[in-house]
Amino acid sequence: MSRAAKITVDLDAIRHNYRLARSLNTAGNAVAIIKANAYGHNAVKVAKALEAEADAFGVACIEEAVELIDAGIQKPVLLLEGYFETSELDYISEHGLWCAVHSLAQIEQIAVATLSKPITVWLKMNSGMNRLGVHPDDYQAAFKRLKQLDNVSDIVLMTHFASSDELDKSTTDEQLAVFNKAAEGLDAPHCLANSAAVLAWSDARRDWMRPGLMLYGATPFPDAQENADKLIPAMTLTSEIIAVREVQPGECVGYASSFCAEEPTRVATVALGYADGYPRHAVTGTPVWINGHRSRIIGRVSMDMLGIDITGIPDADVGTEVEFWGKNVTAAEVAPYCGTIPYTLFTLITARVHKRYINE
Ligand SMILES: *Cc1c(COP(=O)(O)O)cnc(C)c1O
Repeated sequence: MSRAAKITVDLDAIRHNYRLARSLNTAGNAVAIIKANAYGHNAVKVAKALEAEADAFGVACIEEAVELIDAGIQKPVLLLEGYFETSELDYISEHGLWCAVHSLAQIEQIAVATLSKPITVWLKMNSGMNRLGVHPDDYQAAFKRLKQLDNVSDIVLMTHFASSDELDKSTTDEQLAVFNKAAEGLDAPHCLANSAAVLAWSDARRDWMRPGLMLYGATPFPDAQENADKLIPAMTLTSEIIAVREVQPGECVGYASSFCAEEPTRVATVALGYADGYPRHAVTGTPVWINGHRSRIIGRVSMDMLGIDITGIPDADVGTEVEFWGKNVTAAEVAPYCGTIPYTLFTLITARVHKRYINE
């Protein structure tokens, strides 16, 4: 009775993937990164599914933290980018949020703030990515200054990798060396690893890890990797065929006639388009899954519809479900056909796509 475009989120898969991260460093802890609405999987649902076992949750901004607190989440919540305005410090202090601090100016702002309780600071170092963080040369002094402040309780030492998904590059080792040197002798826990580092850089796992993408079952690597191969995809994007036609050689499909048949082709129109978050950049040949067969997108993706090839899949017809990514064709596999990475596929799913949660 309604349009069939939907995502199904398997919360058990997310628990499995979180446990995989923890199993790689049983002595350490892991902040489950659920920013950006848990990469499009629904932050409150994911937090509730993980709350019994997650050590903490990580979000990008206070609005995302407020959503979790209002939903009754009790585990610590880390603001990965810290605060944007000093007026946020009241809420951070009152609700015990953990807060990244990435500049010397912020340390002085905290020093003069009037807070109800001291806050936990994650002191970020710029070890080479040149995005956020205190310069390595200033890091020891920044730590010592924070230690003096009545407004600061605990401190965690933090940095972020630029290229941990590129296993043959030396960048991650270089960043590790910069971090180790600048943090030498400081008595505080370390937190370095994003998903790729959790999976593949054992020296980066340390006291706290920050797995994000891997929780949702997508590999950050272009090739097989022993730990990443154990991930279970959590999100399945499906819709249904709404029309079927045969096109003859020379006939074209969709906007701009970007696909023209060279042989008789059975084409299905599916109710899914870029206004659902399926990328318009998906090229002819992007894999899809239908009735146990791998097939492909043909022609341009429209706003609300797209075409797929069902030649040789005779049981595919109006009403048949098509998987665009999930456990059979993964988002990580689809992403390069769209000139992107699985992160964007997940986060761009739009409001009109129905959402279903299983294994809560
Ligand atoms: C998003 C984010 C992560 C998680 O990265 P993934 O690659 O998704 O695992 C970790 N740390 C910081 C600072 C982040 O912003």
